[in-house]
Amino acid sequence: MSETADVVIIGGGIVGSSVAWHLTAAGCRNVLVIERESQQGLGSTGKSMGGVRAQFATAVNIRMSLYSIPIFAAFEEITGHPSEYKSHGYMFVATTPQHLEYLRRNFSRQVSLGLQRVEMLSRDEVIRRVPQLRSDDILGGSFCATDGFVDPYSVMKGFMAAAAEHGARLWRGVGVTGIDVDGRGIAGVRTTNGNVAARTVVNAAGPWAAQVARMAGVDLPIVPLRRMLVPTEPFPGLPDRLPMVIDMSTGFHFRPEGLGLLMAWNDPEETPGFKTAFDPAFIEKILTHAVNRVPCFEDLQVNPHRAWAGLYAVTPDHHAIIGPAPGLPGLFFANGFSGHGVMHSPATGRITADLILHNASSLLDARDVNLERFAEGRLLEETAVL
Ligand SMILES: Cc1cc2nc3c(=O)[nH]c(=O)nc-3n(C[C@H](O)[C@H](O)[C@H](O)COP(=O)(O)OP(=O)(O)OC[C@H]3O[C@@H](n4cnc5c(N)ncnc54)[C@H](O)[C@@H]3O)c2cc1C
Repeated sequence: MSETADVVIIGGGIVGSSVAWHLTAAGCRNVLVIERESQQGLGSTGKSMGGVRAQFATAVNIRMSLYSIPIFAAFEEITGHPSEYKSHGYMFVATTPQHLEYLRRNFSRQVSLGLQRVEMLSRDEVIRRVPQLRSDDILGGSFCATDGFVDPYSVMKGFMAAAAEHGARLWRGVGVTGIDVDGRGIAGVRTTNGNVAARTVVNAAGPWAAQVARMAGVDLPIVPLRRMLVPTEPFPGLPDRLPMVIDMSTGFHFRPEGLGLLMAWNDPEETPGFKTAFDPAFIEKILTHAVNRVPCFEDLQVNPHRAWAGLYAVTPDHHAIIGPAPGLPGLFFANGFSGHGVMHSPATGRITADLILHNASSLLDARDVNLERFAEGRLLEETAVL
């Protein structure tokens, strides 16, 4: 074998880049990131809405956000590159007693875990924050001022550039085609650029994670699921510092993007598969939900050619799979983010680096996010999936 690396990372999206940075920042120098596309960001990362939030239901997701959001806030100081973090907040809007109760329960858990700037909102406070909302059915909501959005592409590039400054290498336009195993465990990877000997390999292949895991004979319960986003033309008159607004009655959500908006809605009729074409019929569906909650959105202008689709990597419990492959020393997963891989990329990098270098992470009990939880029936329940 001509090449060797201490750690090979398969996939140069935001997760692979964060793992590379966290490893090199911890002193691991010979890190090689292998990306099959000619440039980074052509997987899910470049398709993301960039939302970051700590308003989750489970301790695992809250803890991962509590580590990640301060990293986005201080990203430039830490890495020397911008994250474009905008702390406009996320506002969840409840229209049923069940949803309100759910927000209250989440609020208590978030506060007990140390989230500081989250608050429950009365109906009037919701309306005051975004007066354009149709409010006849609104019962209340929740808001967290440190939630917001980042530029996923910028974060990814920043992590990778900072890792490179510490010695990491990035191969672009090189696909991993096989994973070699010997009696000790992982022995290396086969690529379109030759073989690389490595005793540690991280699967950071996003929606293609199950295919990569299969190269090592491991089944990962991760499926790709199309998600579509619709940007609008400039739309004046909305509040300054408009937050991400989530209408819990339909799941429709939107945030500012430039002078316009970026709108999302998870179509419950979507079926798994590697579908990345935008479906023009989606525009009418999402606009119906948009106008239903914000009547003045009747005047929104949308150019279908600017809308796009990308893939979520979804696990059975909508939580990531992070950590070592059972029974195969040297293979690590950083996969299955179920729509949260941008916001949780810093925590994932940290946990993965901790597990590779120290066999444990102080961020959370890594058993909670390991692959074995599915076979052992320890699934996590996250209902706040966007
Ligand atoms: C429409 C949409 C909206 C989203 N909104 C949000 C949001 O608001 N907030 C949030 O946190 N998350 C969001 N997400 C999810 C987020 O984008 C992903 O969780 C995140 O980008 C995953 O990053 P990744 O690095 O794991 O995967 P990717 O960015 O997909 O990177 C994986 C890389 O692996 C490479 N690869 C695959 N196989 C191989 C191989 N065999 N050899 C070499 N390279 C390989 C691919 O080319 C790819 O570049 C959204 C996703 C979509 C689609």
